[in-house]
Formats: sequence, structure tokens, C-alpha cells
Amino acid sequence: MLAPPLQRLVTELGRLPGIGNRTAQRLAFHILRESPEQAGALADAIREVKERIGTCEVCFNLAEGPLCTICADPRRDLGVICVVEEFGDVIPIERTHEFRGRYHVLGGALSPIDGIEPEDIRIDQLYARVTGADEPVREIVIATNSTTTGEATALHIADGLRSRAPELTVTRLASGLPVGGDLEYADEVTLGRALAGRRAI
Ligand SMILES: [Zn+2]
Repeated sequence: MLAPPLQRLVTELGRLPGIGNRTAQRLAFHILRESPEQAGALADAIREVKERIGTCEVCFNLAEGPLCTICADPRRDLGVICVVEEFGDVIPIERTHEFRGRYHVLGGALSPIDGIEPEDIRIDQLYARVTGADEPVREIVIATNSTTTGEATALHIADGLRSRAPELTVTRLASGLPVGGDLEYADEVTLGRALAGRRAI
């Protein structure tokens, strides 16, 4: 029904999360009505983000260059690492202004049902950071989601850290976060309180 180039745009937009076919069509028509400059700016932004944004070689957060802005900041405490599942989880924690250490982005959570095993996420890289650091790491704050997979990941990492670095303090965000909820959607006050009241596990 649609001309092939338009259908292609609808198909591509429809692949985005949360965008159904009707929304994809509405967005495609909107882009079609825009000026070539406006539509080109969207296309350029997509191309540029793929060309210029990679992952930080220390923490695996998003970065433009070898280090993310947090790892490159000399004011951050090298002795504390906050472990999160995804890039998106760093932002809400930063917004609380409660945390002055650095991060470790796992890139997912353990889920044997879905075939996600320890070697599929960046757990070994975390152990390497703890055992190989020039400046000793004092504390690991595990801030995985309070979901079944997030909790399983937290326990697995806590065990692994205890055997590799017994002197290390391992903490978990306190409750206060909605059970079954994603960190990404928590408000600053709830997440700030959860971070301030974290406990050892
Ligand atoms: Zn980093």
C-alpha cells in the first residue's frame, strides 16, 4: 500500500521498542512532512551516535573515546565501584548525587532460563578490576534491579567477590525500590534513600 521507501521507514521505526505499527506510520508521515534539513538532522544524529559512541574500557558505560566522563573525572573515588545491569541505570544513580565512586556496567543480568550465564555478562571484568587495581577497591555496591534475575546476579557476584577479595566490603542497595521494578524508572528520592541505606549481603 505504501511506496517502498516509505514502507522501509515504517518498518525500521517499528523495530524500535514500544513503537507499534500505527505509531511507526504516524512517525514516518511526520518525518515525510518535515523539511529536508529537519529530517536530515535526525538521520545524521543516528549515524553520529553509532560512529562516535562506544563503551568505556574501564567500566563499560557509554563513552565518546576510551573513557566515559565518570572514569575520566579525577574527583571520583577509585575505591568504590557501583555495579549496575545497563547503561541506563547509571543516569538515575548519578541524579541522586549520593554516589561519588565509579561504575561497572554488566550488560545484563543472570537468567539461566534465557540462557544468560555468568560468562555472558561482564562479571569476570569486574573481578579483574577488583583484584588488579592500582588503588585498592574498598567497596562494591551491587545495584542490580530488584527483580528475580537482578537478585540472583547480586548473590552470584557477592559470592564471587568474597572468595576473590575477602577484605572487600560488598553492599546491596537497601529496599525502598519497588519490588519487580526497573532501576531506570525509579525517582531520585526513592533511589537516593535506597543508596544511602545500602547493606552488606
Ligand atoms: Zn567508565
